[in-house]
Amino acid sequence: MNNRILLSVAEMGGTEQEWIEKAFKDNWIVPLGPNVDEFESRLEHFLGKGNVVALSAGTAAIHLGLVMLGVGIGDEVICQSFTFAASANPIKYQGATPVFVDSEPETWNMDPTALENAIIDRFNKTGKYPKAIIPVHLYGMPAKMDEINAIANKYSIPIVEDAAEALGSEYKNRNCGTLGDYGAFSFNGNKIITTSGGGALICPNEESASRVKFYATQARENKPYYYHNVIGYNYRLSNISAGIGCGQMEVLNHHINRRREIHKIYSDEFAKVDGIEVQQNPSNDFNSNFWLSTILLDCNKIEKSPNEIRESLNQLNIETRLLWRPMHMQPVYESAPYYGGNIAEKLFERGLCLPSSSCLTDEEVYRVLNSIKQVISK
Ligand SMILES: *Cc1c(COP(=O)(O)O)cnc(C)c1O
Repeated sequence: MNNRILLSVAEMGGTEQEWIEKAFKDNWIVPLGPNVDEFESRLEHFLGKGNVVALSAGTAAIHLGLVMLGVGIGDEVICQSFTFAASANPIKYQGATPVFVDSEPETWNMDPTALENAIIDRFNKTGKYPKAIIPVHLYGMPAKMDEINAIANKYSIPIVEDAAEALGSEYKNRNCGTLGDYGAFSFNGNKIITTSGGGALICPNEESASRVKFYATQARENKPYYYHNVIGYNYRLSNISAGIGCGQMEVLNHHINRRREIHKIYSDEFAKVDGIEVQQNPSNDFNSNFWLSTILLDCNKIEKSPNEIRESLNQLNIETRLLWRPMHMQPVYESAPYYGGNIAEKLFERGLCLPSSSCLTDEEVYRVLNSIKQVISK
């Protein structure tokens, strides 16, 4: 039997263990420490922007972004519907109400027209504007940030960018995660780099970054005894995990290049297959890291559903994944308002994520390609 090909796995660069050993040698086995400082500074260098705060998860980063913007009970927050639940759940952590918005077909991300309709309609219904907007750069593809930012500015609503999947992606030559008021990254095990688990929040200035650090370490005031004016969280990254992140930063560019190469092989090969379309950058303004390569199936030309293909590939020891089921189609968010049409629903029905790990060999990518061709022709 062939070895199993997974969707997206971690790939170590080589120096990660040295950073961890250093933490052991210095007995820095705690949240915070020199590896955390170094990891933050490496991220800042990569992004060309300061005020990066390393946290325990991408979800924690989104959550603290909303905390910083003062989102609370009675507020509404607009969120892209076509995403992973972690984009939206922090809205509920704050006792606020999510308002979901459809995607547009080019980037699969937040549709600016649906966004503006949602803002206007929420104002008409509640007399208040939503408190924040959460666009997502899904699968690494940058959202249409100029249009989204223009609408956000028009109504003075701040943006928390969910860039969890988009480290290294660029929009008009600017880094995803630095295009809104706050930007969140994830370093979970399956993301483009990993700290085994972790995240980061990109903050607008030094003052807000230091406030985020304060919230992330239990909101302890500067007094000799433990004294709290506000509710805090235990969200800082551990010095051990950050050591993995320091090593991973040395191979981030390699990981991005390799994922783009894998996407190119899929694109070139599926161009010859009628009924399969690989998602592409819509124009030169967009430069996805192609964290995951994704395909859409034309149901008039291919009889099998994405799920049937997924099951057959699984038999061949290849892991694929259906696209995210939109949040407005989730039982837990049934009662949340939704604006837009059926773009996200259609994507969910027709799409599939392909194995995209940076450690995949060309041979393995061709094995995936040939297996898909075989499965759809049966
Ligand atoms: C992974 C992910 C998150 C959450 O990140 P964690 O580090 O797993 O908490 C949020 N949003 C999106 C789109 C993600 O893919």
